[in-house]
Amino acid sequence: MSDTMTIHVGPRPAALGALGTYFDGETAEAQPARLRIEEGQQVLVIEVRGQQKVWPLTDIRRVPDQADREQLVLALAGDPVVRLVTDEHRLAQRCPNLSRRNSHVKRGRVLGWAMAALASVALIVFVLVPRMADQLAEYIPPEGEKALGETTLSQIRTAMNQANLEPLPFCENAEGVAALKAMETRLSDAANLPVPLSVHVLDHPMVNAFALPGGHIVFFKGLIDTAETPEELGAVFAHEMGHVVSRDPTRHALRSAGSIGVLGLLFGDFAGGAVVLFLTERLIEAQYSQAAEANADTFAMATLENAEVRPGALGDMFQKFLDKYGDAEGTSAHFLSHPKLGDRIANSSARQAEVTATGFTDTPLLTDQQWTALKGICR
Ligand SMILES: [Zn+2]
Repeated sequence: MSDTMTIHVGPRPAALGALGTYFDGETAEAQPARLRIEEGQQVLVIEVRGQQKVWPLTDIRRVPDQADREQLVLALAGDPVVRLVTDEHRLAQRCPNLSRRNSHVKRGRVLGWAMAALASVALIVFVLVPRMADQLAEYIPPEGEKALGETTLSQIRTAMNQANLEPLPFCENAEGVAALKAMETRLSDAANLPVPLSVHVLDHPMVNAFALPGGHIVFFKGLIDTAETPEELGAVFAHEMGHVVSRDPTRHALRSAGSIGVLGLLFGDFAGGAVVLFLTERLIEAQYSQAAEANADTFAMATLENAEVRPGALGDMFQKFLDKYGDAEGTSAHFLSHPKLGDRIANSSARQAEVTATGFTDTPLLTDQQWTALKGICR
């Protein structure tokens, strides 16, 4: 989904002096952190809430995780709950014992058994649950899927507005909502969707959109601000419809939710809260597989064509993401995930050239008046 965040907005700083998210294991809160390495002492200094946590580089471990390989999830040896999440992969090269499992395994039989128990739980959480998710998705009833989506959406709204305690507000200007509905109708008729959609706009500057289980599609205000034409926004809309049709969000949520459930049993609510928030973040990032993204793009272009909208609009919108965030490694917005954005733009303009050559004509997706109303949906 689509893919963000710690919740980061905009481009990430590249160097150490980088940013991360710190989970103290005591409160259910994602705390923004600033990271730097003290070369002299060979320690990582994590500045969080005006405090400094000092982690010796030799004691930093990587937490294995199936759900997302884009981010580094780091722990401190001997501490079961504290976590640091960062995109700064260069940090990994500075930690010599990153993948060491546990240096105390041989200390005694009891500890050995405990490690074996932990290992079996880890197997369930990181290997079996993610594998089962695809099968579970086949059995979950439509009502269950919708409820899963609603719960996730309310978690996201709460998680993203920690400064004030109210959940992130929906944008509900009546004329804007009507214009968005007109766009939805035109596109969903063309897409022949198997499920009704629930479409929401969240008042947040992030340039992003994502789909949730049960036909929920969520746009952030920042995306609507960035789109220059209704067709560009419609292209993202159609892309998210592609995820809905292939049920990518459901499998993704089951993978994460399954892990949440098992981790909750393991650590209790105490650490579970932090884990829930942590995984909520990933639902927004929704880094689907390369194949899933390519399929959603193909679906989007076919839908646009059926709706008499230029398939090239998808590439036009992607170009704006590229201009805004770059195509750098580690950028976590949904649309910046692989396959490389440049390739996706090229596919879209190639398709546009094909249909233009066969006499394709387009019809505006919204009137100027509707587009102005949609632009003002958060007023
Ligand atoms: Zn996508």
